Amino acid sequence: MIQTPYYLIDIARLQANMARVARLRDLSGAKALLALKCFATWSVFDRMRPHMDGTTSSSLYELRLGREKFGGETHAYSVAWADHEIDEAVGYADKIIFNTIGQLDRFEARAQGIQRGLRLNPGISTSGFDLADPARPFSRLGEWDSAKIATVIDRISGFMIHYNCENADFGLFDRQLTDIENRFGNLLGQVQWVSLGGGIHFTGEGYPLEALAARLRAFADRFGVQVYLEPGEAAITRAATLEVTVLDTLDNGKQLAIVDSSIEAHMLDLLIYREPAKVLPNAGPHRFMICGKSCLAGDIFGEFDFPEPLKPGDRLSIQDAAGYTMVKKNWFNGVKMPSIAIRETDGTERLVRSFGYEDFAAALS
Ligand SMILES: *Cc1c(COP(=O)(O)O)cnc(C)c1O
Repeated sequence: MIQTPYYLIDIARLQANMARVARLRDLSGAKALLALKCFATWSVFDRMRPHMDGTTSSSLYELRLGREKFGGETHAYSVAWADHEIDEAVGYADKIIFNTIGQLDRFEARAQGIQRGLRLNPGISTSGFDLADPARPFSRLGEWDSAKIATVIDRISGFMIHYNCENADFGLFDRQLTDIENRFGNLLGQVQWVSLGGGIHFTGEGYPLEALAARLRAFADRFGVQVYLEPGEAAITRAATLEVTVLDTLDNGKQLAIVDSSIEAHMLDLLIYREPAKVLPNAGPHRFMICGKSCLAGDIFGEFDFPEPLKPGDRLSIQDAAGYTMVKKNWFNGVKMPSIAIRETDGTERLVRSFGYEDFAAALS
């Protein structure tokens, strides 16, 4: 048995997502790029590569990882490139997407060998969290003034428009895209490609994939563009768990169980977005609050129901540990960093990476 804590990537689940990505590509003609900021566990890239066209990035290092470990089409985006990064970035990328006209002005001459694009901020989004809303007031994420963008349209070949966030509502997607078509159609008709970004939850249960495909195809036909999607969460949703072991239990008015992990260190988004973890099947007469082992008082995964009382040595699987989870793990409290393991479709589990004291020490000096 692999020692906990570890992230366990389930290949069968990953393949189910990949099959839907592949079907959407086939039906719509859109290309799909993995958004590395969501998931960058490169040891499973060989299982994703046949079903996706490449990667998109948010920094020089993600860009390089995409080029070296995934291959295919490599889009380079960054909120702001530094002068000392740009030549290296251009060396890895097929397309570079500038966040502002200012960055385009500054770097276009050094990006002559590849295609150049601009981030268009449509001023709408589906995020319920201000923190994650690209259209929040005074957002720095992209240009939104169409008159200003029109003045540089002959210097770019495409737009990136990322405005969805775990949007499982096709009707909403459809209406918002129509709004974008109406407001920016004049610009969209003058470029060769448009990336609609990520955040469309098309691998979810019951999502009308065919309707989405038809909508994307209609958009592509109307403006004569190659459409790109940049799925992060949708590509890997439900494809990994965080495997932990109970170290101690106590009754402080509630039954508590302390595990060999920490939400702050290993599932940070739960803390940031104040969401409970998921433990399945979450049924039975014994309710426990599952707590992390860092010394942060609020390091709590949530309260869940179990068929038997928990005791030291019991193992638990925390669900949904792929997206925005492994990429955010950190060394807070020096808690042992989860290893990374892969469960093959035949059920065998294989350890692919473990981290030790040397890695902890090497992260600082
Ligand atoms: C975050 C992000 C994505 C991926 O978003 P998901 O919600 O994980 O699909 C895609 N493109 C851009 C520009 C992003 O910032």
